[in-house]
Amino acid sequence: MGTEILTVGTELLLGQTVDTNTAWISQRLAEAGIDVFYKTTVGDNWGRIEAAMRLALSRAEALIITGGLGPTEDDLTRDVLAAVINRPLKPDPAVLAHIEKRFAQRRMPMAENNKKQAMVPEGVEVLHNPRGTAPGLFAVADGKAIACLPGVPGEMMPMCLEQVIPRIRARFGSKGRIVSRVLKACGISESTLDQRIGDYFREMRNPTIGVLAHRGEIHVRLTCKGDDPQRIGAQLDDLEDKIRERLGHLIFARDEEVMEAVVGRLLRQRGATLAVAESCTGGLVASRLTDVSGSSDYFESGVVAYSLAAKQALLDVPRALLEQYGAVSLPVATAMAEGVRRRGGTTFGLATTGVAGPTGGTPEKPVGLVWVALAWEGGSSGRDFRLLGDREMIKHRGSQMALEMLRRHLLGVPAEEA
Ligand code: AMP
Ligand code: MG
Repeated sequence: MGTEILTVGTELLLGQTVDTNTAWISQRLAEAGIDVFYKTTVGDNWGRIEAAMRLALSRAEALIITGGLGPTEDDLTRDVLAAVINRPLKPDPAVLAHIEKRFAQRRMPMAENNKKQAMVPEGVEVLHNPRGTAPGLFAVADGKAIACLPGVPGEMMPMCLEQVIPRIRARFGSKGRIVSRVLKACGISESTLDQRIGDYFREMRNPTIGVLAHRGEIHVRLTCKGDDPQRIGAQLDDLEDKIRERLGHLIFARDEEVMEAVVGRLLRQRGATLAVAESCTGGLVASRLTDVSGSSDYFESGVVAYSLAAKQALLDVPRALLEQYGAVSLPVATAMAEGVRRRGGTTFGLATTGVAGPTGGTPEKPVGLVWVALAWEGGSSGRDFRLLGDREMIKHRGSQMALEMLRRHLLGVPAEEA
């Protein structure tokens, strides 16, 4: 069966809001084994919402709509739906009570406008929205299912998962499901990856393998189709084992897990602590590490030392080193790592210094040159990277390489491999 997704909102057409709802819903439908054939976005305009709805219903069996359920003038989805399926709008007392309760909880007066959100087309099911005022709607008309969900992703997502997808599956069944698993590698080129697992890549039919370079990481996506979730899981396990055999510790994480969480887990396991000294990454390494809840167990401090004076004053980098080698150099990166470690009294000190660009590059020290150094009791190591991309990308990749250097050290594997 075919499903379509329609997102409503002028902000989406203007590019002010990225339409993340469509991508997210598509992924959930794929996992549920439901095909998506078309995706459409329209602005808050009656004529175009109506035309898009009618067109979608002329070719799909199910339509999922997000946006336009709010209380304001430009929120039209509910009214257009009522017109398209030709059912009168009626006030729903239970919905009204829910909206009134939410306003009372927040000690705010309810605007007259909000009553609009309690209007429900006759014979249409109301989908409860525990996180917001706008309820969702689930209509069946001419054998087609139509779900309307709020645009706010945090409200839309649980409603879609818990209330919409099960209804669509129940109505139309689904021919199996599609499950993906992502293995993430870092510090390895796509060509190296191809050398190591290219044969699987080309030969596998189910599961299939896809490779995607993504912000300093390479994602190897295994996708399996089937009817039996247990068998799918076993097939994915089997292929994952084979890939891990070839790539070993180059794979740092799976699925949603991120580098900063992996590094944090390793530090915690070893009872180790970390202080970070950053120049070109401007605090990004510290920011990423502290994105992880519980990071205070191992993260001690971060210093952003941008100027030469700050590197001397805050990290005790000797002036002579700065003069002799320049700020972007192995000796300075190492002195930064050692300085922050000594001051923080931590197991490790990690430092970055580089040229983030687009200005400031020279022939010997081009834009994208980043030195990363790691210091520990009685030792240190450092490495330079030539990173590509704009300023934001170089900062991000620099932070990634720093975290990867620490990860490899914690695992006791070579820093230089691949
Ligand atoms: P609405 O339900 O149309 O009032 O949308 C409320 C808010 O949700 C909008 O202001 C956007 O910030 C967000 N939003 C709406 N549609 C989408 C979408 N397709 N993807 C991501 N965010 C969205
Ligand atoms: Mg809107």
